[in-house]
Amino acid sequence: STGGLEDDITCSVCQELFKDPVTLRCGHNFCRECVCEYWKEKTSQSCPICRADSVTSDLITNQTLRNIVETYKKEKKYKVQSKSICSEHKEKLKLYCLEDQEAICVICQVSRKHENHKFLPIEEAAQEFKEELNNSLKPFQDTREKIAELIEKYRGNLVNIHDEADKTEKQIKEDFVKLHQFLHEEEKNLLADLKKEKEEKEQKMRAIEESTVQDLMSVSKMITDIQQKMDEEDQIF
Ligand SMILES: [Zn+2]
Ligand SMILES: [Zn+2]
Ligand SMILES: [Zn+2]
Ligand SMILES: [Zn+2]
Repeated sequence: STGGLEDDITCSVCQELFKDPVTLRCGHNFCRECVCEYWKEKTSQSCPICRADSVTSDLITNQTLRNIVETYKKEKKYKVQSKSICSEHKEKLKLYCLEDQEAICVICQVSRKHENHKFLPIEEAAQEFKEELNNSLKPFQDTREKIAELIEKYRGNLVNIHDEADKTEKQIKEDFVKLHQFLHEEEKNLLADLKKEKEEKEQKMRAIEESTVQDLMSVSKMITDIQQKMDEEDQIF
């Protein structure tokens, strides 16, 4: 079926098969005239479909696309003709004139109009059209395959990015669990150190306190001694 093909080679501006097709940098195709007319009414040169910026130097005829359109038109014309009867001679169109590119009847063949022209049986011509169309479609299909490949690769990358993000998330979570454990340990150690230091300080303070009390006690004993001695001396006098 060429229904899909016909859509691909139809200009979205004029809704007809491409005439002198050009491909803009966004990849959209139009008839050269359709783009030029479209741009005349605009202040900027953008794609009539996607509005992507374009420039006049993009307007180079897409030969591949033009060949496809030409071959497609020939095949279509042939298909219509091959089922018809010669309007002049009322005979079946069994031959194809290569010079005039049209189906003719056996009486047309011997007429002056087709003198010295080359002919093919119409079935053979049909086969050649099909091959020609397939050949001109080849680059077109190759491009499609490449695009499909790229899309596939791109999807693969997306999946990779997804997996990568999942992995990173897991890693971050694991790292933070470790970090929390480490911080918890560190907190415990610091608190233990602090407690030890506090106890040591308390012990030192207690020691100082005790020695001070002892000093005071010995001082007060000394005072008592002195007073006693002074009292004794008083009694002597
Ligand atoms: Zn057009
Ligand atoms: Zn576009
Ligand atoms: Zn005829
Ligand atoms: Zn002819």
